[in-house]
Amino acid sequence: MSKQPILSVRGLCKNYISGGASLKVLRDIDFDVAAGASIAIIGPSGSGKTTLLHIIGTLTRPSGGSLFINGINTNQMADGKLSGLRSTHIGFVFQEFFLLPGFTATENVENGLLYSGVPRKTRTEKSRAMLDRVGLSHRLDHQPNELSGGQRQRVAVARALVNDPSIILADEPTGALDTRTGDEIMELLDQLHAAGNTIILVTHE
Ligand code: ADP
Ligand code: MG
Repeated sequence: MSKQPILSVRGLCKNYISGGASLKVLRDIDFDVAAGASIAIIGPSGSGKTTLLHIIGTLTRPSGGSLFINGINTNQMADGKLSGLRSTHIGFVFQEFFLLPGFTATENVENGLLYSGVPRKTRTEKSRAMLDRVGLSHRLDHQPNELSGGQRQRVAVARALVNDPSIILADEPTGALDTRTGDEIMELLDQLHAAGNTIILVTHE
């Protein structure tokens, strides 16, 4: 028997109601992602990639269909339970980084551990180790405005990883970077995949 997929979607639909009209963005989507896989979801701007990623990441509820994470059906889960599941299973990397201004790289990564019950000192140690892993051991105390775009995205990747999530969701993570820096971030994601992480990447190219 094959192993249970880490992620399954079945009959997934999403409609937005806007200006009185219903917009069908996702229609009847089915797929599985195996643990340790690295997959890309590709489509032009406006095709519903971010919507799909936010549903997979339990930030948005689908209009229909089911989402299973590690075999757990998320449909009937209350918001509180769902955010618990999200914080232990999902790491997000966004195109716009979404780091907290005025906080150091280490503090931004520590943020990824806030709801994990890890004591403060361990949070700091883990965050520094993760920043080292993404090649930023020389920028631990820099704030986002003191970092380049590529370095900011590395901080965001470290924040996504620090809680050891089952799945990393990356929404056009190179979209705000120049080609060379973007290639470096893609290389970093490849290394993380090689190290056993499950990655779902959204891109328009
Ligand atoms: P992509 O990430 O592929 O560019 P999105 O998932 O962001 O696509 O958007 C898909 C479609 O859904 C677009 O036409 C967009 O205008 C529409 N859309 C996205 N979010 C909302 C919302 N909250 N309310 C209404 N329409 C939305
Ligand atoms: Mg998008």
